[in-house]
Amino acid sequence: MDRLVSPKITKEIVNKHGFKFSKSLGQNFLIDENILYKIVDGAEVDKEDIVIEVGPGIGTLTQVLAERAKKVIAIEIDKTLLPILSETLGNKDNVEVINEDVLKLDIHKLIEEKCEGKAVKVIANLPYYVTTPIIMKFLEEKVPLKNMVVMIQKEVADRMQAKPKTKDYGSLSIAVQYYCDPEIITKVPRSVFIPQPKVESTVIRLTVLKEPKVNVKNEKTLFAVVRAAFGKRRKTLLNALSNSPLNVDKEVLKKVLEHSEIEANRRGETLTIEEFARISETLCKYL
Ligand code: SAM
Repeated sequence: MDRLVSPKITKEIVNKHGFKFSKSLGQNFLIDENILYKIVDGAEVDKEDIVIEVGPGIGTLTQVLAERAKKVIAIEIDKTLLPILSETLGNKDNVEVINEDVLKLDIHKLIEEKCEGKAVKVIANLPYYVTTPIIMKFLEEKVPLKNMVVMIQKEVADRMQAKPKTKDYGSLSIAVQYYCDPEIITKVPRSVFIPQPKVESTVIRLTVLKEPKVNVKNEKTLFAVVRAAFGKRRKTLLNALSNSPLNVDKEVLKKVLEHSEIEANRRGETLTIEEFARISETLCKYL
């Protein structure tokens, strides 16, 4: 089968099967070879790798992943794409398509049963409407990962890799940087998709750290503190934390910040992940 990654072949396949694009499933298919290779090269896929691809669409990225990797598990929610995938990937015996919603799948079980229980690479042109839940599912469930290379909405990628004291820095930056080292591989214009999305994209590589970035006894407390601090971005840290679902008395919070050596009048957006971890550890002693 010819490479799918071209406007002409993509349109031919889609028309032949009478496929209707679903906006609500984030179906924007890649038609640019240069971007396709930036994704595959960015993940450094080789014959040792087992790859999980989320949302293969018509199989554009899957074709090249199958040539480079040992095995590809492609998880696609839309069953109307299955006849297309069996045509476009028919001759690739190292690809398995699973017709499921990735958010409902037990990924640990999948890795045990289909990926030899080994760490995988997750590579995808993700549907915009569920980008963050999909990425956070793999990270929070501590799926054994070598890396993730995903194409996502530019604004979301900017937030994932933002540093303190910038406008994009927030809960998502901390959540991702707790588990990974994020690096932007390339920006992507809207013109490389059929149909064209309303937003620009970015290819980002998330290299999973061996240990989380900071060592805390209670991750839930860390993320509750982070959410509270960014929930009221314009307030001082003390005010943001004291009027929050943390539900801790203001006088106690004053002591917690003092013992953590963080000034109470700073704003959440100036704190590093290490400083958030200090607050979280001290707070645990008071709870
Ligand atoms: N990989 C193809 C490409 O690059 O041309 C298609 C990418 S398209 C942006 C996203 C794909 O994810 C679509 O095929 C869509 O049906 C699928 N998808 C959307 N939500 C999903 C979910 N929850 N689980 C699995 N696949 C999903």
